[in-house]
Amino acid sequence: MDSPQLNSLYQQLILEHYRHPRNKAELDEKTVEVHMANPVCGDEIRLQLRIENNEIAEAKFVGQGCSISQAAVSMMTTLLEGRSLDDADALAQRFTEMMHGSQDAAKDRSLGDLRALQGVSKFPVRIKCALLGFDALQEALKKGTHEATH
Ligand code: ZN
Repeated sequence: MDSPQLNSLYQQLILEHYRHPRNKAELDEKTVEVHMANPVCGDEIRLQLRIENNEIAEAKFVGQGCSISQAAVSMMTTLLEGRSLDDADALAQRFTEMMHGSQDAAKDRSLGDLRALQGVSKFPVRIKCALLGFDALQEALKKGTHEATH
């Protein structure tokens, strides 16, 4: 196991998402796809969204890598469907704050299962793993917004 020491309940939740990832599949009707890699750790994901009327109608991903990167993106996708693009961006910012040590963000229930990753903020090399999914999301939101204006 390559995970840092985390609170054991949180650790279980991370492993549970890693072993049984949510929304891990190719999305046939995607409107945006972003490939994101973290070469330091060997993590890789392709995030696929179907954006309709400024809302995320569906979110799926395919990828491989460490438990933290894959669990984080799995957790993230469970929170995206039905969210407006602005709201999804706010979630990404909140999660990023938590990964940079914000105690306030770590208590925010809107982050759902993602709060299990708060301990990762103490391990600088792993922060990139945890942020991979949201980095892809922010890129996808930029692309999605851009395409909607055409
Ligand atoms: Zn990793």
